[in-house]
Amino acid sequence: MVAPDTANRQKIGIMGGTFDPIHYGHLYIAECSRHRFGLQKVIFIPTGNPVHKRRRGITSPSRRMEMTALAIRSNPYFDISAIEVQRSGPTYTVDTLEELHQEGTGEKIFFITGADAILEILTWKDVTRVFELCEFIAITRPGYSFREIDKVLSRLTNVQRNRIHFHQTGGILISSTDIRHRVRCGEPIKYLVPEQVEEYIKEYGLYLLAGPDRDGAK
Ligand code: ATP
Ligand code: MG
Repeated sequence: MVAPDTANRQKIGIMGGTFDPIHYGHLYIAECSRHRFGLQKVIFIPTGNPVHKRRRGITSPSRRMEMTALAIRSNPYFDISAIEVQRSGPTYTVDTLEELHQEGTGEKIFFITGADAILEILTWKDVTRVFELCEFIAITRPGYSFREIDKVLSRLTNVQRNRIHFHQTGGILISSTDIRHRVRCGEPIKYLVPEQVEEYIKEYGLYLLAGPDRDGAK
């Protein structure tokens, strides 16, 4: 039997995140990955109820979806999916990948993530299946130490290791945590998030309160 030709398969990137809020760090690594790996598109998938982040109140899925949609609007290669926010119960990457796999027409999926997330990969639900369904683009910054990650990599199979592509970008030191903190303290977030996202945060009074009640109810 002739092996199916995989060389010409569509390559799509998946950019998962809480996006609370989305910022230029996210947009930058998505664009760098698209360019470096020849991805036809990058789909942003805001998490529904992320299992790793239950400890703090998270802005409602609809607000995070709206901010993400605003942020990606100017890039024709970027798209957004509500696949995770629509799912009830906790979000598991494997379920999302499985769903995309079933919907897709043999697309090759690249899951874009900060390299630090790879440290936790062994705790993910059904990691064997995750590696069958996607390859990883793990973004590092200059000076990134591989010491911790090497320990994790040594516990993966060769095939799995080869499905993680490390990619160094210039690095933008922005985090959503920092942005939420800045808003709460009245510090500027201009040039850290797209203008429409900044306006949206102001309009709905997001991040002014600390803790679980801070989301403008919606
Ligand atoms: P928080 O501070 O709430 O954890 P965050 O800024 O890390 O938010 P997430 O939504 O948790 O944003 O991240 C989604 C993905 O983007 C993760 O894979 C994360 O590693 C990556 N990421 C976030 N910020 C950056 C950045 N400045 N540079 C590179 N990767 C980033
Ligand atoms: Mg994070």
